[in-house]
Amino acid sequence: MLDRPLRPSPISPTVDFSAEGVQHGFLRLPYSRDDSAWGSVMIPLTVVKNGEGPTALLTGGNHGDEYEGPIALFDLARTLKAEDVTGRVIIVPAMNYPAFLAGTRTSSIDKGNMNRSFPGAPDGTVTQKIADYFQRELLPLADIVLDFHSGGRTLDFLPFCAAHILPDKAQEAKAFDLVSAFGAPWSMKMLEIDAVGMYDTAAEEMGKVFITTELGGGGTATAKSAGIAKRGVANVLKAAGILKGAVEAAATTWLDMPDGNCFSFAEDGGLLEPLFDLGEKVGTGDVLARIYPAGRTGAEPLEVKARMDGILTARHFPGLVKPGDCVGVLATVVG
Ligand code: CA
Repeated sequence: MLDRPLRPSPISPTVDFSAEGVQHGFLRLPYSRDDSAWGSVMIPLTVVKNGEGPTALLTGGNHGDEYEGPIALFDLARTLKAEDVTGRVIIVPAMNYPAFLAGTRTSSIDKGNMNRSFPGAPDGTVTQKIADYFQRELLPLADIVLDFHSGGRTLDFLPFCAAHILPDKAQEAKAFDLVSAFGAPWSMKMLEIDAVGMYDTAAEEMGKVFITTELGGGGTATAKSAGIAKRGVANVLKAAGILKGAVEAAATTWLDMPDGNCFSFAEDGGLLEPLFDLGEKVGTGDVLARIYPAGRTGAEPLEVKARMDGILTARHFPGLVKPGDCVGVLATVVG
């Protein structure tokens, strides 16, 4: 750990988190640069508070090229009424705002990947400063945390809501209850490739009830995936007792990523030929995809094989693939 106290965050909110009613404002982060000497990054946020009750912290745009979360949260921010809330809802539709404006996964300012930047630093890069503000100011206010993700430009997912297997089983059960309430077509017991530096991990280590999503991908949203996001966030707020009304029940199929064999990576680059589509059943040893060497005709393609039985849950989205890219992710149906 650090051997000196952390300085205060340079971010100042233009809202009062303890005030009653609806407030639309910004997290203002000073950012001095060529086109604005005393300029700032203005991260939009909305706070809706009505009396005593739990606080939900809702975020999209953790990665800037994932759109279901921002769509659902810009919509919620303009429509949520204080009289329908018990407690508090903090809405940040585009957490890594510079990345969101650029339509890229990472920040256009410092290339920072928000979900690898926690706990952040008040004297670090712009991305680290935003992470630090969430770590030390916003997460401590929250009881439940919903962070929207999708596949972005390079992955495409079956639409699912997810939580992690946790050492604290009571905390884990509360998270899976909210995943169930979200009501995505698929619900996931999620395994991370590398959990270090993630917002998820920061929230969970603070004891918060944390859920996330993967709702599509390819760098866009569909009417269907945006609708899943909008219904899901309302359902989560209702299940938590924060939003008036009954949870809109929806059928879901539970999936599990049991171990690292669920991931298949490309060992060479080239032209990707998918042999399975999302949602299809795959058996151990099945060829998930072929990779054709792009340099010549007549060469045999590299085969990417499944290392377990499962449902194809995610796939590489662009038509060309590079060595090390995640080609596919499998998950098993639970129960
Ligand atoms: Ca993501």
